[in-house]
Amino acid sequence: MKKNPFQSRLSDFVLKLADKDLDAAVIFSQHNIRSLTGVDCDSACLLVTKKRTVFYTDFRYLPAVERLAPYLELADISKLKGKKPLTLRGVEFNRVGCEFSMSHSRFVTLAKVFPGAELVDVSAEISDLRSVKTSEEIKKIKASAQLNDKIWIEAKSKFIAGMTERDMARIIKTLMIKYGDGEAFETIVCVGENAAECHHVPDDTVWDGKKPVLVDMGVVLDGYASDLTRNIMPARFGGLYKKVYTLVREANMRAIKAAKPGMTAAALDKVARDYLTKNGFGRAFGHSLGHGVGLEVHEAPGVSKVSKTVLKSGMIITIEPGVYLPGNLGVRVEDLVLITDDGCEVLSSSEK
Ligand code: ZN
Ligand code: ZN
Repeated sequence: MKKNPFQSRLSDFVLKLADKDLDAAVIFSQHNIRSLTGVDCDSACLLVTKKRTVFYTDFRYLPAVERLAPYLELADISKLKGKKPLTLRGVEFNRVGCEFSMSHSRFVTLAKVFPGAELVDVSAEISDLRSVKTSEEIKKIKASAQLNDKIWIEAKSKFIAGMTERDMARIIKTLMIKYGDGEAFETIVCVGENAAECHHVPDDTVWDGKKPVLVDMGVVLDGYASDLTRNIMPARFGGLYKKVYTLVREANMRAIKAAKPGMTAAALDKVARDYLTKNGFGRAFGHSLGHGVGLEVHEAPGVSKVSKTVLKSGMIITIEPGVYLPGNLGVRVEDLVLITDDGCEVLSSSEK
């Protein structure tokens, strides 16, 4: 029988455990468990050893696990409570992988369950595996990106002079609930010079219908996020705004053209950064070029000046150069792209 893609990812995780000389790993994060099994469940613990994977959950989720991941061993989570898992009694564990982002109390419990074992963080290993999407995940993220585009077009048609940033953000949020599963992050709407602050929180600033508006938005659909930034042009599209907008869009398109497997994320960041620097705006581009998107809107790989990650086919990242001139203007153009075998496929289709 053909392995499902999550099963392959889990096998790759087992190999990574062996590389790190770990006897087992205990995973609690909902997103990480979903990425290793395909099962979305907010009350679970995944125990992975070289030979066995046990999915601990409560009765509500047992049917879902049986349906989606029948190859996993199932166990009732209520039997775990601070005790060594039944299935593991009599087995020695010297090094056990876990997520160091877990709560302190959970950490203490784990230390009791595996007395004397060294606990080792495996978050980076899981992030690494998550960064290359399965075919099913690619389909879901594409659908999320398409929906995000649709919502942007519909929302934009509803924007009228006199609305505040909050009003506009609310329109987007409402459409995200209507068509999808809500916002992947709090929608950013910036009127005029507010866009110079890249993570501006929508406030009562009124749009006069003439100033530019920057919108950064992402919807969740079937658990997967998308991410898009677009700008409504000012009524008088000229002068410095036009100059900056044209440069930022060009930086975005150059990076899209350059993106391909085998290059480092830092080299991709450099394509956009060098172009903006050459044109006098390098210092106004204060953040990294992009980030991975999947179950979370910000996940591995980071696409920054220092990111050593080598891009691989199947990674989904944003390409979002920006220029911010405080008190004056801000422009960011963000697309979601899938790294393919010979380049990249742009998943965002909104006009820029
Ligand atoms: Zn964004
Ligand atoms: Zn982004």
